[in-house]
Amino acid sequence: MPRATDVLIIGGGPVGLFMAALLLQHGVQVRVLEQRTAPEAHSRAIGIHPPALAALQRAGVAPELVAEGVAIRRGIAVVGGRRIAEMAFAGVSDTFPYVLSLPQTRTEAVLERRVRELDADALHRGVRLTRLHDGGGRTTAEATSRGGPLRFSAALVIAADGVRSTVRALEGTAVRAKDYPDCYLMGDFADSTGFGPDAALFLADEGIVESFPLPGGLRRWVLRLAAGPADVDAGWLARRVRDRTGVDVDPGTNSMLSGFGVRTRVVRRMVSGRTVLIGDAAHEISPIGGQGMNLGWLDALALAPLVAAALDGSGVAGQLRRFERARLGAAARAARQSEINMALGRPLAGRLLAVRNHAISAAAGVPAVNSLLARRFTMQ
Ligand SMILES: Cc1cc2nc3c(=O)[nH]c(=O)nc-3n(C[C@H](O)[C@H](O)[C@H](O)COP(=O)(O)OP(=O)(O)OC[C@H]3O[C@@H](n4cnc5c(N)ncnc54)[C@H](O)[C@@H]3O)c2cc1C
Repeated sequence: MPRATDVLIIGGGPVGLFMAALLLQHGVQVRVLEQRTAPEAHSRAIGIHPPALAALQRAGVAPELVAEGVAIRRGIAVVGGRRIAEMAFAGVSDTFPYVLSLPQTRTEAVLERRVRELDADALHRGVRLTRLHDGGGRTTAEATSRGGPLRFSAALVIAADGVRSTVRALEGTAVRAKDYPDCYLMGDFADSTGFGPDAALFLADEGIVESFPLPGGLRRWVLRLAAGPADVDAGWLARRVRDRTGVDVDPGTNSMLSGFGVRTRVVRRMVSGRTVLIGDAAHEISPIGGQGMNLGWLDALALAPLVAAALDGSGVAGQLRRFERARLGAAARAARQSEINMALGRPLAGRLLAVRNHAISAAAGVPAVNSLLARRFTMQ
């Protein structure tokens, strides 16, 4: 017999775990299937924006995250060792006037603990969804696990299973795809900048270098590269950082090194029958601008009340259509914003470089434009 539940969430990443916490708080019975037997060790996202912090507050986890993270209250743009622009986040939110920096691994650990606190049996690790079929007003999910095959039956399936979503593939959901020429290399090192909790963008002519504070006296460096990095190590990254920014970074303190390319993948439909796609399964956005995880949490926040109402027998078809339209619109805006961020970071030479840097400096110097950009940058 399949194990019955109200809602089956596929994927126990940050979005699936947050979705589970919200629904469990509403009294909804939830099971989360996560194929990994242990949490993901790679720190990807670090930036949590004010609207996402407000959402996380609803799941009771914001204070713990804020206590552990670094509040970035200001970003600075640097050219040739000179600060040419500054953007403060003071006016972007009354409650959270900053972007919180915390490695995704820590954020997921806090969310997982919250889910287990609400229901110790909700998260099933080491269980991989392989098939879905509908019948009798419910969906049956087949999964594999070390202990053998498992079956679950649910009134609703929420797919938060990431960029290689199994559910999306099983359903044959159409996707709008865009690839970009940009490649990046990122690494975490001891902070030697003296910038404290400020984020810094170094507008170098060979391509942008981004630098963000992390908890524990660390800093993340992200370099734009012309081609995918091959055979590089911490020393290579440290030398490029010094060449482009003048900052000395000690390769001996490196604790993470990772290269990535960028692309956009946005589904045409998030809702199909009794299945809803959210998070990266619905929209993969370039990490430049740091919006992907935040976008997924805001999907979950918007979906939670509709799920609770649907399970209570209320008709929510119209609301689900509006949910889908609004969330796909938010994904399109995030994709556009990340395209602007990537374009600003591409290498430029001579006059074009001078014009771009002057435009950034001039725009930041106009208070109304500066505060508009700060709101855009923080997803508002
Ligand atoms: C280098 C980098 C930097 C980034 N920086 C930022 C940032 O600063 N800010 C930001 O907002 N975003 C950032 N992102 C994006 C962010 O990491 C993702 O948007 C986020 O992880 C998406 O969460 P998710 O839960 O939707 O998917 P995932 O984190 O991918 O989680 C999906 C989960 O589903 C599980 N799963 C998949 N298939 C199955 C299956 N068949 N059965 C069971 N389980 C399954 C997977 O094991 C995984 O745990 C960054 C991404 C990268 C690569």
